[in-house]
Amino acid sequence: MLDALWHPGYSSLICRFRFRREGLRFCWRPTLLTANRVGTTNLRWRRSKRVHCSNLSIIARSVSSTPFVMDICGGIALAVGLILLPLIATGFSIAFQPTWVVRYVQKFQPEVFYIKRTEDKVVSLTIDDAPHSDITPQILDVLRENKCKATFFVIGENIDLRPDLVERMFNEGHEVANHTMKDVASWRLSPTHFRDQLIETEKRIAKYFSVDHSGRQIKWFRPGHGFYSKSMLEIAKAEGYKVALGSLFPLDTLFTAQAWLISKYLLWRMHKGAIIILHDRQPQKHQTIKVLKMILPVLKSRGYKVVTLSELYSWQGEDE
Ligand SMILES: [Zn+2]
Repeated sequence: MLDALWHPGYSSLICRFRFRREGLRFCWRPTLLTANRVGTTNLRWRRSKRVHCSNLSIIARSVSSTPFVMDICGGIALAVGLILLPLIATGFSIAFQPTWVVRYVQKFQPEVFYIKRTEDKVVSLTIDDAPHSDITPQILDVLRENKCKATFFVIGENIDLRPDLVERMFNEGHEVANHTMKDVASWRLSPTHFRDQLIETEKRIAKYFSVDHSGRQIKWFRPGHGFYSKSMLEIAKAEGYKVALGSLFPLDTLFTAQAWLISKYLLWRMHKGAIIILHDRQPQKHQTIKVLKMILPVLKSRGYKVVTLSELYSWQGEDE
């Protein structure tokens, strides 16, 4: 009766698992076995450590006489698949951001606002890295033409360059939120440096709150480059900030000159309670303006209302 099997090509965890499942005992050393114990096999086993064979497939019979086939290529493919699967799943989630994945993340990270659970056709438009001398005025024009409100995540250093544009955002009923002093990955900053950046930007924004038309005064923060750490969440909370990411990011930081593609993607993936992320900065040039010109009229025709982040967060449903 076959009760053990060994082959140098099969000394992987997966094969050991399969041996066990088939009721076989796994042996590390070939000296424990002889060819006649291997059962039905197309290999010639030798007592040396090297096994000479042209075909590494083994067909053996387990104690229950159930035939099974294993080969090294299958094992390698399975191992590679197990490694690739999480990468493919992550890539898929980043590229398509299925709402169920976003809701799942939101459920386990409730202190970060990713998506609003609502049955109303309401979405929030957020624009990062503002203000920008050439781009922001045109974005504001498009928003005014389409009667839409947005939340601008501004960068402290950019405010210093064009404070008048931030004032215009407030005056036109948009929301201004904190995106730290520089467009850098926030998670790379030390906790002290991160807190300093948050506070410095806050000082610049706070000046405009007297003309904040939303009246809600929720202080929003979005980490630079979209990643956060536990300490960042704690610091942001201590400074009175709510952290917002989003549920609809068309990767416009990668595709910087494909307005048509970005628009198609946004309209395809649009969902109730979505938080859209776009950018107001030089690499995108005029892409965001084109995208807004394309999507805002379509959203309106589909019955969507575009609001600020605070409005979406506090959304209770339409009164009228
Ligand atoms: Zn940014």
